[in-house]
Amino acid sequence: MPFDPAFASIFPRTANVAAGRLSIGGCDAQELTREFGSPLYVFDETELRETCREYVAAFSSRYRETTITYASKAYLSRWMAALAREEGIGLDVVSGGELSVAMAAGFPAERCHFHGNNKAEDELHEAVDAGIGRIIVDNFGELELVAAVARARGRRQPIILRLSPGVDAHTHAKTTTGTLDTKFGLPISTGAAGQAVVDALRTDGVELVGLHCHLGSPLFSLEPYDEANAVMLAFAAEMRAKHGFELREYSPGGGFASQYVRERPAPPVDAYAEAIASSFLRRCRDHDLPPPRLFVEPGRSLVARAGVALYTVGARKEVEGLRTWVSVDGGMADNIRPAIYDAKYEAVVVNRADDEASETVTIAGKYCESGDLLVKDARLPRTQPGDVIALPASGAYNLSMASNYNMALKPAVVVVRDGRGRLIRRRETYADLLTTDVWGE
Ligand SMILES: *Cc1c(COP(=O)(O)O)cnc(C)c1O
Repeated sequence: MPFDPAFASIFPRTANVAAGRLSIGGCDAQELTREFGSPLYVFDETELRETCREYVAAFSSRYRETTITYASKAYLSRWMAALAREEGIGLDVVSGGELSVAMAAGFPAERCHFHGNNKAEDELHEAVDAGIGRIIVDNFGELELVAAVARARGRRQPIILRLSPGVDAHTHAKTTTGTLDTKFGLPISTGAAGQAVVDALRTDGVELVGLHCHLGSPLFSLEPYDEANAVMLAFAAEMRAKHGFELREYSPGGGFASQYVRERPAPPVDAYAEAIASSFLRRCRDHDLPPPRLFVEPGRSLVARAGVALYTVGARKEVEGLRTWVSVDGGMADNIRPAIYDAKYEAVVVNRADDEASETVTIAGKYCESGDLLVKDARLPRTQPGDVIALPASGAYNLSMASNYNMALKPAVVVVRDGRGRLIRRRETYADLLTTDVWGE
């Protein structure tokens, strides 16, 4: 059976199968593991740049005053930050650590937005000192803290308030963030958001420039964005009428879906752009609001498809009449999503990509948890130890959530383009496991 064409929209656009072997960015996948080791994360630079350009074009063609800011918690490295800079997009950071990596790559601080529900005072100092573009204030305590930090530095920091609009995005309970019962943001319905606008307008050291919400992830339907725009822009109009607040910047967040499995395609970028931009402009018109600058914050959907995880097959266990396990050399330490979100993936044996699927197996990781599974009930050709299995759509929230559980060594990361693979993160070594262990020194 040839490589299923339905995989084409899950793998990077450069993926190709010839003589039964899968290549990405012109590089033979199994050869990459021979050169750089296994497990291996491969990012396709062409795919990633194409997706950045799609986002910029899709939104700015519908509303010119749009800025795409990549939510870097999905995947960040100096290479990624440099690429974002080259593509003209901004960066959302949620910690001093993410900010420090962005700065180390020479990313302009004024194009960074600092999110999070409990930023530490130190982190706020670092952000203000770096000259961060916006701080997204999540709660009353943080408003005071940001103002105090900015005043101490003789600055007036531009801020945006994160609101919780009370919109249920109907996604996984662990990734829903726009409802009333969430730790994120100032609720509109309780009056907290209104009070925060009043407080922010009166507080020295901060300049309130806009409003933000983020509903959760991944959102396969478009309606929640319109619901959120309706609530948020009505609130902005109310604040203008009551307090003279002028909305200059607005963000309905990110949360765009990406495709992980054949049976669940994600809406194209254009569909999100059309839904969000048209709803945004219509709601602004309804309230007679001059349309503010629009910030759109894709994380997952910008990087997921560009990343492919490669694992090497090891042990096999058959339980008669029940299940066959095929274990690989990675698992929950590099991809915890199946364990915590029940996330689904496709799997392709890269050196037998045209072979008929002949059995149903569960692809297990190598770590000491029964929940350490990568793919349940995968249809694969019969594999041998040494075969290499690719899991596409592994670019988002895999490496950024990776751990050293079982003292696992985090995998190497390679960027492929035009038939060449370039190492951007070396595989960890045992010595790395001891670099922060200061016992006896
Ligand atoms: C995580 C996050 C995003 C991006 O979410 P994705 O689902 O990865 O697109 C955008 N905005 C904020 C504030 C976030 O916390």
